[in-house]
Amino acid sequence: MKNTCLALSLALISSAAAAQDAAPNERFTSCMKTLRSVASSKGIAPASFDRLTSGLTPDLSVLEFLDYQPEFRTAIWDYLAGLVDEERVADGLAMQAKWADTLAASSERYQVDPATIVAVWGVESNFGRNFGKRPLLTSLGTLSCFGRRQSYFSGEFLSALKILDAGDIEPEQLVGSWAGAFGHTQFMPSTFLRLAVDGDGDGKRDLMASVPDALASTANFLHKGGWREGQPWGYEVLLPADFDDSVSGRRDKRPLSWWAKRGLRRADGQPIPVSDAAAGLLLPAGPRGPAFLVFRNFDVIYGYNAAESYALAIAHLSDRLRGGKPFVTPWPTDDPGLSRLERRELQTLLAARGHPIGEVDGMIGARSREAIKAEQQRLGMTADGRPGQKLLTSLRADPAAR
Ligand code: CA
Repeated sequence: MKNTCLALSLALISSAAAAQDAAPNERFTSCMKTLRSVASSKGIAPASFDRLTSGLTPDLSVLEFLDYQPEFRTAIWDYLAGLVDEERVADGLAMQAKWADTLAASSERYQVDPATIVAVWGVESNFGRNFGKRPLLTSLGTLSCFGRRQSYFSGEFLSALKILDAGDIEPEQLVGSWAGAFGHTQFMPSTFLRLAVDGDGDGKRDLMASVPDALASTANFLHKGGWREGQPWGYEVLLPADFDDSVSGRRDKRPLSWWAKRGLRRADGQPIPVSDAAAGLLLPAGPRGPAFLVFRNFDVIYGYNAAESYALAIAHLSDRLRGGKPFVTPWPTDDPGLSRLERRELQTLLAARGHPIGEVDGMIGARSREAIKAEQQRLGMTADGRPGQKLLTSLRADPAAR
């Protein structure tokens, strides 16, 4: 139903756009006028609004992301293989050492341990390497005037103007994701206004250029979300052979003693303490894959981006930074996912076979997927475009292109 409506409305939009090219710009101009009239009630003076939005034009390409249904759904083992690989663990340990004093200060002030702060940083922006490149006011302005979540994005647009008006960040520096998340911590503008703090004491909250500001702001986010220092996010557990998984899920919490009685054991061999602490059973790939008991701190991480796979990536990376091991139970697949190093190797092998995959960057985009499909077909594998261990192993051994 939803898809039919979407297809219909997209058809209407494109035919309307074809009929009169000027329409989007006119609509944008009148929409900005409306936003200008409400801006002062949000503390943005008309003069500031005019200064910051002069010359602003819509970028309708961001609308494609708004309703994007990924045709290629990423399996949890592919997602984690790229996000928590040996490279990111090594980078995280290096960052933990480099910013030790800053982290110690944030950790003491906000009562969140350094490994958790660094893990958020590593997953959000790869330690400041991936901020997104889209000018924030253009994206948020467009999403405020077109598409299906205009009122939400209008609030974020006005919040972004407020940040610039206060001078925390220079306008030309403010770039980010298509949806308006920006900087080391990928905060949305309204999150910035609520939770960003000045970590280096220069009087500005600069999540684009200041690592101390970013680390302190992340710690503050988790602190305000209810982080309980000294308590684990959770841990991997082993289920008994005849386990009844009818009770599971992050939200369906039961006392630890209840779980222990059902035969769950910690995967690292430590005992589950006799306690009434509330824990939910997370089964990201069903009962045959890795299982986790998760506590309140897991929910706090979840609050950062509202996806369990995402929260698990941060939680697991934080464990690895504390010296923890990879999961004990393997994912229920005979074709595990690839690390970023392996993705680059796969891309190199594809390029050597003449596939125009573009830059070897470890990011499997449309061109890499096409090349993967072609090679899968040639090798008699299912041509699904997924980068996995089986294809990598086959191409390594395949003398065809040598
Ligand atoms: Ca600062």
